[in-house]
Amino acid sequence: MQQKKGNLIILSGPSGAGKGTICSELLRQMPDLIISRSITTRAPRPNEQKNRSYFFVSTDEFLDMVRNNELLEYDQHFENYYGTPKKFVLDMLKFGKDVILEIDVKGALQVKQNFPESILFFIEAPNEQALYERLVKRGTETEDKIQIRMARSKLELAQKHKYDYCIMNDDLDRAVKEIIGIINDIKKRREQ
Ligand code: 5GP
Repeated sequence: MQQKKGNLIILSGPSGAGKGTICSELLRQMPDLIISRSITTRAPRPNEQKNRSYFFVSTDEFLDMVRNNELLEYDQHFENYYGTPKKFVLDMLKFGKDVILEIDVKGALQVKQNFPESILFFIEAPNEQALYERLVKRGTETEDKIQIRMARSKLELAQKHKYDYCIMNDDLDRAVKEIIGIINDIKKRREQ
């Protein structure tokens, strides 16, 4: 009997749209879901090293991984590189695990091209003001950097039609429920 392969699930959306919170809720509510930890050359934010949200690497280390074809996708974002280590994701999928990536639009579209079965969700904030307020409240960025992120958000928003599903994050519980419903429906169909 052929072994069941896992599903690749991707969350993107503007900084401050609440992707991280949605991702944590999905991981909490879907015990079989595994997160892929990205590598980045950006400096850790306070507490981030401890929470181990990324593997923090130097630019040289990052570019070595690119040269050695060790990344599933990568992108340069706000002067830093971000990428998805390939081996972990492919191993988990092979073992039948569902894997979630929280990555930007360019990275997500690269993955979709190579893995057409991946399920892409674009997370939207209700409006620009809400996005801005979430970034200010997070308190991890200077005003200049917030403005750069807001400009980038507009570019990302213009590509949301390329995603399989757009989820409005005006109510966290509802948004999470909607995503879980979609994933479960797709899994049921694929397992038939
Ligand atoms: P932050 O600096 O706020 O953690 O992340 C900035 C952006 O980089 C976010 O949109 C996040 O989704 C994206 N990002 C994080 N990890 C990756 C990755 O592995 N690949 C790509 N392409 N983007 C990523």
